[in-house]
Amino acid sequence: MKGFLRSGKKEECFGCEGCVQACPKNAIKMVEDEEGFRYPAVNEELCVNCSLCNKVCSCENMPKAPSDDKLAFGGYHKDRDIKAGSTSGGAFSAIVEGWCDENYVIFGAASEGLRVYHDHITDKKDLFKFRKSKYSQSEMGNSFKKAKEFLKEGKKVLFSGTPCQIAGLRAYLGNDHPGDLLTVEVICEGVPSPHFVRSYDKHMIKKYGASITSLDYRFKDMKKTSGKWDFEVMETKLQNGKRIKQDRWFNPFWSIWLNHLMSRPSCYKCPFTTTDRVADISLGDLWGVHLYCPELYGKNGGASLVVCNSTKGALALEKALPFMFGHELDFNTALKYQSPMRKAIDTNEHREAFLKDAKVLPFDELCKRWAKKPTFKLLWQKYVWGNRQKIALYNFKKKFVK
Ligand SMILES: Cc1cc2nc3c(=O)[nH]c(=O)nc-3n(C[C@H](O)[C@H](O)[C@H](O)COP(=O)(O)OP(=O)(O)OC[C@H]3O[C@@H](n4cnc5c(N)ncnc54)[C@H](O)[C@@H]3O)c2cc1C
Repeated sequence: MKGFLRSGKKEECFGCEGCVQACPKNAIKMVEDEEGFRYPAVNEELCVNCSLCNKVCSCENMPKAPSDDKLAFGGYHKDRDIKAGSTSGGAFSAIVEGWCDENYVIFGAASEGLRVYHDHITDKKDLFKFRKSKYSQSEMGNSFKKAKEFLKEGKKVLFSGTPCQIAGLRAYLGNDHPGDLLTVEVICEGVPSPHFVRSYDKHMIKKYGASITSLDYRFKDMKKTSGKWDFEVMETKLQNGKRIKQDRWFNPFWSIWLNHLMSRPSCYKCPFTTTDRVADISLGDLWGVHLYCPELYGKNGGASLVVCNSTKGALALEKALPFMFGHELDFNTALKYQSPMRKAIDTNEHREAFLKDAKVLPFDELCKRWAKKPTFKLLWQKYVWGNRQKIALYNFKKKFVK
């Protein structure tokens, strides 16, 4: 039997909270385990064994991926401020602008301090709440339930989230749901244990006397005077107004994050790391941009990869095109640079030891023990011969060498 509620196996729960929302007796709640991840727990006294929780579990009833032809697109938003306020090239905002004309509701991940949660908006001017990747698992609350209600009322619903959240929504809604639904997923390589950011928060309180109000993992410092961007900074805002900017290249926080030492158990066996995507559209960074489409580098301000998995997704992209610069890409070439569309992250043999440390060690000690030191290769890539320099040479040749 698959699915956490039947098997008790943690790798069989994506944490989408569909079962919690489907239970007619409110007998299921999400409870945090010792690693900080949330799992459904059933109150046996309230449970009437109706099995609705199993029916909506996407691990048990995996929704089918569309079988339409794939279409890949690379580019970035025409509006500099929107691009600056987005993680990659701002494709998400362009899709919303194109698709949401009237009578629409948009669902996405918002944050408040360290808490990340799903919410909905009914006015595009509030889209800033959903912009930027919050690299933590969001709490779904009753967003599937709400989306179903809006669809029944005849509203257009754009639902965005991680691939497992989109699969959760599709399993919750079933095949013959009413209304006009567009699903947009972020290409994802896993969510980390909340203990890690909590440890970072404690460190901030100790060092600066204030807690974190927001974490911008990929801050785009737009130096308006020179027209250049610095895309390689993480910005931490604190309650006392202080802003801390750290280089992403040599930041121990990112070094640990990228090592997959603390991902949710299901992420190591993620069934969505294939080209069969459940969502209409998949969004990611345009990795490899400097190698196969340098004209889309966008002055280092970020570029988006948009993969349309269904005809509906392709129509939504068509409506987004007036808001973007970019062009179609060869899907197989784009795929070469997108490992989360090909394979799940590797299990890290030190995961257990790291998570034990993350609960007890102060953040700076944790970094000393677990963060990798900058290598000569990294220094070389940043300062001597990396993407920036390759693009500069490309632009120079384009301008001066005939
Ligand atoms: C946990 C996570 C891991 C990711 N890993 C990769 C990766 O390995 N490779 C890659 O190419 N791209 C990855 N991305 C996607 C990438 O960071 C951008 O989110 C994506 O390219 C969209 O950027 P944008 O500029 O179009 O729009 P933005 O405005 O930056 O995107 C906002 C979109 O992200 C959604 N979102 C933000 N945070 C969350 C969250 N915690 N949970 C669910 N949805 C969220 C919002 O609902 C909205 O749809 C990841 C995103 C997340 C959240």
